[in-house]
Amino acid sequence: MTSQLTPVEILNTPVHPVTMAGTLTAVQQFMAEPRLHQICTTNPEFVMAAQRDPLFRQILQEADLCIPDGVGLIVASRWLGRRAGQPLLPQRVPGSELVYHLAGLCAQEGWRPFLLGAAEGVAAKTARVFQEKYPALRIAGTYAGSPAPEENEAIVQMINESGANMLLVAYGAPKQDKWIYRNQDRLTAVRVAIGVGGSFDFVTGKSTRAPRWVQNLGLEWLHRLLHEPWRWRRMLALPRFVLYILWQSTLGK
Ligand code: UDP
Repeated sequence: MTSQLTPVEILNTPVHPVTMAGTLTAVQQFMAEPRLHQICTTNPEFVMAAQRDPLFRQILQEADLCIPDGVGLIVASRWLGRRAGQPLLPQRVPGSELVYHLAGLCAQEGWRPFLLGAAEGVAAKTARVFQEKYPALRIAGTYAGSPAPEENEAIVQMINESGANMLLVAYGAPKQDKWIYRNQDRLTAVRVAIGVGGSFDFVTGKSTRAPRWVQNLGLEWLHRLLHEPWRWRRMLALPRFVLYILWQSTLGK
């Protein structure tokens, strides 16, 4: 862990107390250091998955930055922080908003991102949306591919040959984070690599984000469940997360 920020520990999973602006400052620092820095977009589902997946837990613990992408983490940091004297997580930093800021920063700084993952054609369409919004942006490449081991070599080679120095991977968690972790030493020019979940689907309008007022009420997860009901099983992590946090915060009193 090289981030200068001390992470908040939520069920033994680190989450950094950053704002959106702080995240972009960290990205600027990471881009200036010649090695790959991994960023994870942590939410309560990540935290619960990490309880039973040691490799995923290790990845989150070693990541350079774990941003708080989930309102449940902000609430949990208030409940747990009071007793443990931990810092509070100041705000939610949604990965689906961060990708726009990253595209803007790439345009401004001349960095070249590669967009990997999502369904066929979605990464390419995302690139077109970003390029329209930020005309100075130069995208190194796009590819859907898959996180399957058979494809690994070819994808690493494609990214290296593209000259990309930033990598956005949309294979969903934890596959995307494991993909970055296992390839971190072989992505020769990439300095920042981030798993972005369904962000490309939001950028292209394949999925829609909740209205702002629903986001402000902290209910974006409910909007997602109503629009993508097949997620219900995965989202059982949320009530389990609340129970774990209540249990931990009661134990500490
Ligand atoms: N995805 C993919 N290959 C896979 C699994 C997922 O390209 O093997 C893509 C999927 O099309 C979507 C993105 O990964 O664009 C995020 O998936 P999901 O919504 O499951 O992840 P979450 O946002 O919940 O992390």
